[in-house]
Amino acid sequence: MNIVIIGSSAAGLSCLNTLCKISPQAKITVISAERYSPYSRCLLTYYLGNSMTEQELTISSPSDYPSDVRFILGQKAEQIDTQRKTVRLSDGKELGYDKLLIAVGADAIKPKYYAEGKRTFTLRYLDDAKKIADTTKGKAVVLGGGFVGIKTAYGLLERNIKTDMVITSPYPLAMVLDEASARYIEKDLVDMGIGITTRDDVADISLHKNALKVYLSSGRVLESDVVVVGKGVKPSVDLAKASGIKVNEGISVNEYLETSAPDIFAAGDCCETIDLARNKLQIIGLWPVAVEQGYFAALNMSGNRSRYPGSIAMNSLKTKAFHLISAGLLKGEPGLTVYEKHIPSRKQFRKIAFRGDVPVGMAFYNCPEEAGLFVNLIKKAMPLIVKPEKVVNGDVSISDILKPL
Ligand SMILES: Cc1cc2nc3c(=O)[nH]c(=O)nc-3n(C[C@H](O)[C@H](O)[C@H](O)COP(=O)(O)OP(=O)(O)OC[C@H]3O[C@@H](n4cnc5c(N)ncnc54)[C@H](O)[C@@H]3O)c2cc1C
Repeated sequence: MNIVIIGSSAAGLSCLNTLCKISPQAKITVISAERYSPYSRCLLTYYLGNSMTEQELTISSPSDYPSDVRFILGQKAEQIDTQRKTVRLSDGKELGYDKLLIAVGADAIKPKYYAEGKRTFTLRYLDDAKKIADTTKGKAVVLGGGFVGIKTAYGLLERNIKTDMVITSPYPLAMVLDEASARYIEKDLVDMGIGITTRDDVADISLHKNALKVYLSSGRVLESDVVVVGKGVKPSVDLAKASGIKVNEGISVNEYLETSAPDIFAAGDCCETIDLARNKLQIIGLWPVAVEQGYFAALNMSGNRSRYPGSIAMNSLKTKAFHLISAGLLKGEPGLTVYEKHIPSRKQFRKIAFRGDVPVGMAFYNCPEEAGLFVNLIKKAMPLIVKPEKVVNGDVSISDILKPL
């Protein structure tokens, strides 16, 4: 069997590794627009923070694989001919396939003021991180207060760069947390030395005689070496669209990760799958979720029909000042009951959201040891057998929480 995988990151690589185990006779070609061996995108901010080298980001090398596996790096898949079952690359060459995986991920959203010529970058690829690192000498502005924005600002701080965050929302992590919880994170960031401006946005950016100025809507002007935009991502759907494959917000797949075209599957940040906490189709842009989907895609591509069960959003944010773990849904939908306990003297909070008696979301701040269990309860929609108040108070052990089957 001739298998082509487009994208060699979390989803593509997980599919490849699974196929190498369960279909060792398959001939597999992996195409990547990036020129690097597969590396961890999640660690890019550590690279920015000088705490990891490029080599340490690398996950695997083409030479780790058997001779039936071929990597084509630095080439883009431009078009899929779903009738002839071929993929055309940017150098004009064509590859045939029996089964194809689209694992092309997502791209960072680039607002209208984005211009590399004005030292304004996004952070999605290793090349982005290199450009940011090369350009930043002493001062940086990071736009956006989500997980990636905060990780980026922290990475720059670790690099000894004076960093200012500009956030449109009234407080950081507004998509996930309520104001009272988010203020802990905001205070930690400020105490570490990151400047935070909320309820503001960029109106314009100018570069004149090597001086970069960031003009905010409020009238403030920030001087910086670089602007890093962390305003979210959008799934990469151009290839699928151009090839006549059904796309909504992301590429449409069924529960076997099959697209609308025969023998073509999709996995990772480029496709929409079931969010178990919301119970609806969603793009869950996370590394472990992409890995899981790559694994299920491989099973289905090799004829081992297996239903992908869906997943939930989860995030961990660790700095020298705090550790936040969140999963599922805590706000933004009706019918949620949220239990929470804040212990300011210990710099801790625990929050759990329920729909009925089923936990659907959590955020634990500086108490990571109990968080993993809750992520699993949410994923499996397992009701609690103890009072939620006891959980948020930290008064129960793991065995108290699990319901006997
Ligand atoms: C700075 C940063 C920090 C992050 N931190 C975390 C974290 O802490 N935890 C977490 O769970 N997630 C994190 N993420 C998100 C995580 O990295 C993504 O969810 C994950 O990488 C998605 O994997 P993927 O395989 O779907 O796609 P991607 O990683 O986006 O990779 C897609 C690949 O396909 C290639 N490609 C695209 N189009 C084509 C084409 N036409 N032809 C050939 N190749 C193509 C791209 O160049 C890319 O190499 C972070 C992301 C960033 C940017």
